[in-house]
Amino acid sequence: GRETVLRGDDGPSEEDRSLRPQSISEMVGQLEVRERLKVVVDAAVKRDEPLGHILFDGPPGLGKTTFATCIPKDLGVNFQLTSGPALQAPKDLVPYLTNADERSILFIDEIHRLPKAVEEYLYTAMEDFRIDIVLGEGTNARTINLQIKPFTLIGATTRSGMLTAPLRDRFPLREHLDFYTNEELAEIIRRNAVKLSVTIEDDASLEISERSRGTPRVANNRLRWIRDYVTSKADGHITLQLARDAMKMQEIDTLGLDNQDRKYLSTIIRVFGGGPAGLEAIAHTMNAAPETLADEVEPFLLRTELLVRTPRGRVVTAKALEHVQKYKK
Ligand code: ATP
Repeated sequence: GRETVLRGDDGPSEEDRSLRPQSISEMVGQLEVRERLKVVVDAAVKRDEPLGHILFDGPPGLGKTTFATCIPKDLGVNFQLTSGPALQAPKDLVPYLTNADERSILFIDEIHRLPKAVEEYLYTAMEDFRIDIVLGEGTNARTINLQIKPFTLIGATTRSGMLTAPLRDRFPLREHLDFYTNEELAEIIRRNAVKLSVTIEDDASLEISERSRGTPRVANNRLRWIRDYVTSKADGHITLQLARDAMKMQEIDTLGLDNQDRKYLSTIIRVFGGGPAGLEAIAHTMNAAPETLADEVEPFLLRTELLVRTPRGRVVTAKALEHVQKYKK
């Protein structure tokens, strides 16, 4: 399919795109999600109708953007990409809506960050494919109601809890993306090694997968670093030992935690006696943004039971204490 990208921000980096699957069938894992998507895509094609709006939520780097870019390719329709923070006022949204071809996909990343006025403007666009446009200014201004082409909105968010109910309810299909298994990540690593023209031993891809926090984007970043490492220090072939050495040099530990993850845990241990501690207080102490910690650091720590959330704040577990102790040099 053609791809028209109109964007208000930088979108995914060139590097991300080079490893990104080009069709849903090329994606690894997320089997149930892929099967449900296949059903709605098939049905839309058979009925000759636009696909219903789709909302993806889940931690960063698990494939929300990948799904959003594969769907239009599979359907052979145009694609436009923007994001919540890039849409400050309804007028910022108008060009996307009026440029949308019939059945094309409009992808809004970080949709939980849409200002209220923009969100409300989306409602009638999503429901009735109609928008109000103001022509002229001041006393001469008049509003016309414009019919737009039936399109499909794909929204992505790391914070589905921050979406208002009226917006959430306008998505007939809502999919939650969860962390990948090590086997799935190892498969992604093997495929991407081919795309990056580097050879890799199977035990090395498994080791990298175990240290990639269940996240394809992290696995890709590890792989790129290790590729550089083996190119610089060896003959360009990735063995288990070289993968371990490369990750050691990057200070990625056996659980796949990096400096920021360990700093988060050790801050709670050192400053807050292991917790409970509030996110804001931890963020201030670390000199980090609370959103970054909540989106990028906490989900995997919670998932692996290094951290628990209580009504009074974050608490580290015995497993975390032991791990941080062990890692201390
Ligand atoms: P964000 O919300 O921050 O944009 P995301 O969840 O949209 O994150 P993507 O950008 O889609 O994450 O994924 C990052 C990279 O991980 C992709 O470029 C792709 O290489 C790889 N990837 C993600 N999901 C899969 C998958 N299911 N199969 C193979 N590769 C994947």
